[in-house]
Amino acid sequence: MLHFDNRFVAELPADPETGPRLRQVHGALWSQVDPEPVSAPRLVAHSRDMAAALGFSEAEVASPEFAAVFAGNALLPGMQPFASNYGGHQFGHWAGQLGDGRAITLGEAIDAGGARWELQLKGAGPTPYSRSADGRAVLRSSVREFLCSEAMHHLGVPTTRALSLVVTGEAVVRDMFYDGHPRAEPGAVVCRVAPSFLRFGHFELPASRGDAALLRQLVDFCIARDYPQLAALPVADGQRDAEWFAQVAERTARMVAQWMRVGFVHGVMNTDNMSILGLTIDYGPYGWIDDFNPDWTPNTTDAHGRRYRFGWQPKIAYWNLTRLAHALSPLFADPAPLRDGLQRFNDAFVAADRDNVARKLGLAGCGDADVVLMQDLHALLHEGEVDMTLFFRALAGIDIDAPSLEPLADAFYDAGKREATRAGFDAWLARYATRLRSDGTPPSARRARMDAANPRYVLRNYLAQQAIDRAEQGDDAGIVELLDVMRRPYDDQPGRDAFAARRPDWARERAGCSMLSCSS
Ligand code: AMP
Ligand code: MG
Repeated sequence: MLHFDNRFVAELPADPETGPRLRQVHGALWSQVDPEPVSAPRLVAHSRDMAAALGFSEAEVASPEFAAVFAGNALLPGMQPFASNYGGHQFGHWAGQLGDGRAITLGEAIDAGGARWELQLKGAGPTPYSRSADGRAVLRSSVREFLCSEAMHHLGVPTTRALSLVVTGEAVVRDMFYDGHPRAEPGAVVCRVAPSFLRFGHFELPASRGDAALLRQLVDFCIARDYPQLAALPVADGQRDAEWFAQVAERTARMVAQWMRVGFVHGVMNTDNMSILGLTIDYGPYGWIDDFNPDWTPNTTDAHGRRYRFGWQPKIAYWNLTRLAHALSPLFADPAPLRDGLQRFNDAFVAADRDNVARKLGLAGCGDADVVLMQDLHALLHEGEVDMTLFFRALAGIDIDAPSLEPLADAFYDAGKREATRAGFDAWLARYATRLRSDGTPPSARRARMDAANPRYVLRNYLAQQAIDRAEQGDDAGIVELLDVMRRPYDDQPGRDAFAARRPDWARERAGCSMLSCSS
């Protein structure tokens, strides 16, 4: 039996009005609203790991009650549903009040080890924050959020988690590319799970309205609940708040560095999609790098400026932190600690990036020359149109006494570009081999180090799309198998080579495979 301790609703001010009527909510951080029941909930998939962490047995997961609760048709004792109130900068511009337009938190569960897990339904119906939309989610985007949350967790990237994926039995109409072609799609609800779903935008909204008292209350709450290790620091001279902001910055830096390590592109790094705990949050038009291209974004809604392209993610994260710092400034007598906090982002990112270089190249440590070695490799991977995941995984297998491009040939998408860059790669591999000899890490240790940093399996866009295509035809097995593969991304899994293959040609320009919109 899950135990709930709903601190958010117990300690933070509520909107006096309840229910989903659309409205601007001032002076409050949440509105009470129930999920809207659906006609025919059916559990499509669940995360065994997350279910076990929460103490659900497999028999409980298989029961009709489980599907009912995680579709929004029933509540467990102790649940207190609400939608939270936040704002955000979208694509660089202040967007005002946004809020949980289709997310409804059910409660904060405490697991057997005492850890706190907020359970939140996505797609469970309208809230006061739904604006012009319906509060629902389609199956394709729900499959993508469900699978990627768990895949990222198993890759070692800080992320919100997913417990369950339920189809509702109801249709949801979406115009996928906003081009006048709406169609009815199957609806779904994901239950996502995290210690906290607080976002930068939660702090920005009261600040934008000049409500410093509410901002103060929210910061105190966040520190007490989500950063309890800071509670002992002195409050009076601002030390505690300063250290808190700096730790938010460091966590954000480490999260983005992990994205860069595995080739993840978030796609919509608006400040309402930035977690205060530095967790990857809100899986929408995200994508994975196939051929290495720092300028790539999967998000067609962002195709023009490509603000959220792969290579810009670190600087966008920093910009988002400047927005958070600006929002917090009324609480600081002197802005210097906020500037110091931003510097902690830079320091943490450089350290994490160097750690990536050492781990991905199999070195004991990363010096300045190694950073250049990696930059030069990135330039070659881009120019040669080389698959990032395949290349780094295969790099561990080169013969350092006779380095050659042959073991890496599979990673190229275009034979012409491979030949055009062959001389450059040969020269780079010779430099790398020399560097490995001076490093002295024994070959088996080097291989183990590299295999633990360079995944064999990532949730390539086309793999997710294939599972979605099958699920839309009523066959859930593709989702279940993909989840199982992604549970052990660093292991070679016999018989599962197809999941580690290069993106096929047909997937190059297909909707869902290389192009995604915000429509979900
Ligand atoms: P996103 O770009 O998905 O992070 O969403 C931005 C804002 O739009 C958030 O406030 C969401 O809650 C809201 N939103 C997105 N889709 C829907 C929907 N189908 N119904 C209601 N609100 C939505
Ligand atoms: Mg969002």
